[in-house]
This record gives sequence, structure tokens and C-alpha cells, in this order.
Amino acid sequence: MSNVHELKFLKEKIEELKKQGVYRKLPVLEGANEAEVILNGKKVINLSSNNYLGFANHPRLKKAAIEAVEKYGVGAGAVRTIVGNMDIHEEMEKVLAEFKREEAVMVFQSGFNCNAGTIQAITEKGDLIVSDELNHASIIDGARLSKADKTIYKHNDMDDLERVLKENRDKYRNILIITDGVFSMDGDIANLPDIVELAEKYEAMTYVDDAHGSGVLGENGRGTVDHFGLHGRIDFSIGTLSKAIGVIGGYVAGSKTMQDWLSHRGRPLLFSTSLPPAAVGAIIEAVKMLMESSEYTDRLWANAKFFKERLGKLGFNTGNSQTPITPVIIGDEAKTMEFSRKLFENGVFVSGIVYPTVPKGTGRVRCMVTAGHTTEQLERAVEVFEKVGKEMKILK
Ligand code: PMP
Repeated sequence: MSNVHELKFLKEKIEELKKQGVYRKLPVLEGANEAEVILNGKKVINLSSNNYLGFANHPRLKKAAIEAVEKYGVGAGAVRTIVGNMDIHEEMEKVLAEFKREEAVMVFQSGFNCNAGTIQAITEKGDLIVSDELNHASIIDGARLSKADKTIYKHNDMDDLERVLKENRDKYRNILIITDGVFSMDGDIANLPDIVELAEKYEAMTYVDDAHGSGVLGENGRGTVDHFGLHGRIDFSIGTLSKAIGVIGGYVAGSKTMQDWLSHRGRPLLFSTSLPPAAVGAIIEAVKMLMESSEYTDRLWANAKFFKERLGKLGFNTGNSQTPITPVIIGDEAKTMEFSRKLFENGVFVSGIVYPTVPKGTGRVRCMVTAGHTTEQLERAVEVFEKVGKEMKILK
């Protein structure tokens, strides 16, 4: 009995992580998530945040959050289906629907919850979920919660997707094709025009998780669907409110029918309290700011272009990213983690990403350039990359 309470079985697993060299403590940030931060007591340039537009500590969002707290308090007090649906939750969804140019939006408490709750609510036994092999963990978990059958297709490979659709069309009632809009480890964009063509040919539904495309791609950051001009042809368009928008939450944009159904069967909405007023106030302000001007998305793209070009000129392999996500591919796992450690010692924080998050032998540090970085900060970061790259013989 006492062994059980000592959690010996977990201690053993933790020892195993240590042996594998993948054990770590959670890094601690002193202050807001900005372009330059104090992390684990050290001042560093932050190249690992999803705060694409610098909104996480923006004065206009903070003011809106404070005003919402003054009027509505700090908590919503209930799930949305009981008495936790305030008028600002409704306003937030209206503003988001306008931004995404869709009929309706349903907001969840996080992007993760949104995928976990939506996929299981819109599929059932007798349906098939067809998922890109590199889709995000929350999509995988959402699919696991569904009673539908599941299969994957090779990453962004349209021949393989068509093979799966052809083989399965007559065996199932509904088929749901799910893809990330922007893939978070490589920064490549899904081939949405061809996915939509195939979906229409085989009468399948489409589901795009645009966590890394919303606020980044398309007119004023309207996302990957807007980037390709595919409004009205994607059934479920997912975005997160935690990355470019800088706050917390996730949403599905699409039809009123979708919204109506999720308000009855979206389990995270039925069984978990709705977003706090401060978050909702800040989200509304962020979306208004995006619709007002492209200032922030323009700066994000200019910074990303500058940083990618400078790293490329030095001779780093920055992969095939089509977005501000900038992987610097090192290859060997141990070398990748050492590179990340040395960058940190020299004042740049960029996390190392290795197997199993990415395939073996493709270890990388993944740089997230934001609109909040100054040119001077990016130049300093490039100098550190050059110094450490030469020391470790990654560069000649
Ligand atoms: N989808 C994708 C593609 C993501 O990268 C993430 C965040 N890592 C999520 C969903 C989850 O979003 P959130 O952090 O808002 O829960």
C-alpha cells in the first residue's frame, strides 16, 4: 500500500526520462512574455513564443481586460450552457465571425479543448476521420475521443489523400478530412486548394486547424483559408486565441448549424466554465485591432523575412518554411539540445525540438520571430547564432 502512495511507479518512469536525457524542469519567466525576457534568472532574447504579434502584453488589450474585469468580475461563474454565457462572450463570437468572414463562431476555453471537443461532437460510429500524419496532438486526442474510424495520409501528399478517399468513400457515411493550416514544426502551409477539390470530388467534409495561420496569413491575418480565397468551402475552420491574438481560448468558425450543434454537444462547453471576462475583453480588442490595420502582421512578416535571410546567408539550414516559423535544422538530437543550451548561455532562448516531436535525425531549434522584436534584437540574435554555430562547427 505505502509503495502506491509513494508513487514509486512514477518515480521509476522519471528516472527513465533522466537516463534518456529528456528530463527537464519547467522554465520560469519573470514578467510578461515579450521579445526580451528574464528566463530562469537570465536576460535573453525570446525566440520561442507564439506571441506572433506582441499582443500578449499590449497596452490596448490590457486596458480592455481591466475594463471587462471592472464590469463583469474575474470569473464567468458557470458553464456557458447554464449561466456562464455573458453578453461579451456573444460579442466576441460576433466579432470573430466577422473577422473570419464566416456565418458563425463557437469559442472554447483553449485551442486544445476546441479540437478535443469539436471532433468528437461532429463524428460518430460509421464515419471516417482522415488526418494528415503531422497534425497537432489536440487533433489526435480529439479523434481518439470520437467513435469514428481513423486513418492518416502522408504529410500534405495529395496522391495519398486521394488513395484514402477512393478506398473508403463507399464504406462510410461521413468522411472528415483534418489538416493543420500551418504545420507548427516546419512552418509549411497545407495544400488547401487541392484538399478542398478532393473533398468536393469525394463528398467529404473539411476541417482546418489554423492555430499558426490565424493572425499571420491572409488579409489582416484572417488565416490560411483567406490566404487561398477558400471562404465558404471549408466546413470547420479552427483558430486559437492564445497565439497571435495573445490571450487564451480556441474557436471554430463555420455555419450557424455547426454553432448550434456544438452548443448542445461540445463537451468542454457543457462541462467546463467559460472564459473569464478579462480574456474575453482582451480578445475582442485584439480582433478589432487586426481588422483596423495590417500594421502588426506586416511587421511580423518583415521581421521573419529579415531573420530568415540573415540565417540563410550564414549557411544555416532553415528548411522549407513558408511562414514566420523558422526551424534551424541541426540533425543529431544531442547536438541540437547542446546548440539550444549554448544559445541560451549566450543570451538567446530558442527551444530544441527532437524525436519524437519531429522525425529522428531532424532535430532543430525552432525560432518564432514576432512583430514585437526590434531589428537590433534580431541582429543580436543572428550574431549569437553565428558565434555558437561556428564554435560547434555547424557553420564553416
Ligand atoms: N493546434 C495547433 C496546431 C497548435 O499548435 C496548438 C498549440 N500548440 C493548439 C492547437 C492548441 O492551442 P492552445 O494553446 O490554444 O490550446
